[in-house]
Amino acid sequence: MVVQTKEKIDISIIIPVYNEERNIAPLCHLITEQMDGIGREYEVLFIDDGSKDSTFEELGKIAKDNRRVKVISFRRNFGQTAAMMAGFDHARGEIIVALDGDLQNDPKDIPKILDKLEEGYDIVSGWRKSRQDNFILRIIPSKIANWLIGLITGVRLHDYGCSLKAYRAEVIKNIRLYGDMHRFIPALASMAGGKIAEIEVNHLPRKYGNSNYGLSRTLKVILDLIAVKFLLAFSTKPIQLFGLLGLSSVFGGFLFLSLAIFMKIYLNTDMTGNPLLLLSVLLVLLGVQFIGTGLLAEVTVRTYHESQNKPTYLIKQIIDNGKMVE
Ligand code: UDP
Ligand code: MG
Repeated sequence: MVVQTKEKIDISIIIPVYNEERNIAPLCHLITEQMDGIGREYEVLFIDDGSKDSTFEELGKIAKDNRRVKVISFRRNFGQTAAMMAGFDHARGEIIVALDGDLQNDPKDIPKILDKLEEGYDIVSGWRKSRQDNFILRIIPSKIANWLIGLITGVRLHDYGCSLKAYRAEVIKNIRLYGDMHRFIPALASMAGGKIAEIEVNHLPRKYGNSNYGLSRTLKVILDLIAVKFLLAFSTKPIQLFGLLGLSSVFGGFLFLSLAIFMKIYLNTDMTGNPLLLLSVLLVLLGVQFIGTGLLAEVTVRTYHESQNKPTYLIKQIIDNGKMVE
C-alpha cells in the first residue's frame, strides 16, 4: 500500500513513532514552523509503529488539518528500523530527513543539516554532543558502541545512534535494512559509495512518554556489528572468510596430530591418552565445518543477488557515445 502518488517533491521528513501521543502535536508545530521558513516543497511522514496509546488518533487529527502530513500505520509494533524503512520507501522527497518523534531532536537543526547536505554530501548525521539521557545506562554504552562501530566499519562518527540525519533519496533507497540496523546506515551507505558528514545538533530530555530502549540494546548492537562487518567485507565472497578460518583450523589440527605422532615415536607417549590427539581431531572437524559453511554462504549469496536481480555493484554514472546517461 502506497499512501501517495509518486510525483517528486524537495524534502520528506520521516518520523517513526511508538506511543508518543503527547509529543505529536508540539512536534508537528515545531517542524511546520521550521519547514515553512525554508520555503521548499515538503511533506511530513509519520510512521505509527503499532502504538497502543492514542498516537494514531492524534496523527489523524493533524493530517486532517494539514495536507502535508501523511501517516502510515503499522498493524503491530515492528520496531524503529522497520518504521524508518517504511518511511524511506514511501517518501517522495529528493532529500529525506529522519528524526525521533519524542521531541528529543530539535527541529531547529533541520535547516542546518540540509545546508550541510547541499555542500555535496549524501548523508549528514547529527551528533548529540551534549546528550540528555541517563549517563550510565545510555551515554557510556553508546560511547563504547560508537567507538567499536567506527573501529570495525572504518566509518568514524561520534554518534551513530542519533536519529536526526539527512539523506539523499537515491542513496538511501538502495539500502535495505533488517533487524535493528538503522544505526549502521552510514556504514552501509559508505559501502555503497556515499559521502558522509557529521554536524553537532541539540538534544533535549524526554518530557512525555518513556524511552523504548535500555542497556540490552548495546549487546544487540555488537551482534549487529558482526553482521555488518561481514556484509561490508565478505558479502560477495564469504568463502574467503570461512575458508581462511577453516584452513587455519585444519592446519592446526594436522600440526597437533604430527606432534602427537612425534611424541609417540620419540618419547613413547601413548597416542590415545594424549589430549593433543583429541585437539587435532576437533580442529580438523571444525575446519571442515567452517569450509562447509563458507560454501553454503557462497550459494546463498548467489541466490540473494540473482533472485532479486541485484547487481554486485552500484553505478554512479555512465558515459555512452560521449554523453552522460543517468
Ligand atoms: N520507536 C518506534 N518503534 C519502536 C521503538 C521506538 O517507532 O519500537 C520510535 C520512538 O517513538 C521514537 C524513536 O523511535 O520516536 C526513538 O525511540 P526512543 O526515544 O524510545 O529511543 P531513545 O531516544 O531513548 O534512544
Ligand atoms: Mg528518545
